[in-house]
Amino acid sequence: MRVLALDIGGTKIAAALVTGNQLTQRTQLATPKHDVASAMEQTLAQLLSDYAGSFDCIAVASTGIINQGILTALNPKNLGGLAAFPLANTFAKYSDKPCFLLNDAQAATFAEYQLQPAEQCQNFAFITVSTGVGGGLILDHQLLTEPHGIAGHIGHTLADPQGPVCGCGRVGCVEAIASGRAIEAIASTWTPPCTPKEVFALFHQGNIAAQELISRSAKAIANLAADLVIGMDIQKIVIGGSVGLAEGYLPLVRRFLQQLPTIYQCPLENARLGQDAGLIGAAAWAESRLN
Ligand SMILES: [Zn+2]
Repeated sequence: MRVLALDIGGTKIAAALVTGNQLTQRTQLATPKHDVASAMEQTLAQLLSDYAGSFDCIAVASTGIINQGILTALNPKNLGGLAAFPLANTFAKYSDKPCFLLNDAQAATFAEYQLQPAEQCQNFAFITVSTGVGGGLILDHQLLTEPHGIAGHIGHTLADPQGPVCGCGRVGCVEAIASGRAIEAIASTWTPPCTPKEVFALFHQGNIAAQELISRSAKAIANLAADLVIGMDIQKIVIGGSVGLAEGYLPLVRRFLQQLPTIYQCPLENARLGQDAGLIGAAAWAESRLN
């Protein structure tokens, strides 16, 4: 099976031919910023033309929510002119190959799940702690994507009813407490202002404010992990993203989770696939759907 995989992000679109975990002919383009809907259609049409004849199906991991083939988001303003972009119809217009679409965090979830021993992971979750907090859920070996593409948006579960307003409009989401953006919102008010990367450097130097800020994030993720375990009998959770993979972060999440009763515990591991997890996961998911 030759799969053309695409990863549509807020700043870049990556494409590659994927066989197993092997990528060939990888290309990367900037996501259109002007006249975005028609520019996006042209970009996708060009990509399909460039790879014509070399693939049997199309697998797409995209930012936002893929609801019945249409791109949307919890906060559609984040997508600018791409809100309500008809992804499935656009691919159908320019290619007669089968096309499979899912959210990029769901794709990364499937990619990481492929690396797990199946007998130990009937139920599995992936959490990405990056600019935002996202994830994906595997229940009974199946990735949840239907009916509206929402499953796995676990960054928008409640962390603190007294917390800040989240970008989705709800107060106190995990994302509003734990994400890189949430860390930056506080650290940017420090003297001197700090980026999340600088906060981690201070954290490792033993700076109290930095340790409190990172601990607040890690505790919210530990509580999210506990909620997933108790709510869905999740057997293992893999944590990725720039914050999630920062040195010292996972041990902190583990420590907070271990403070909870045993029934809430599950193994936590770092994500193993890097920036191409979306491409690899989308391709593997498409193949699993065709077989
Ligand atoms: Zn939210």
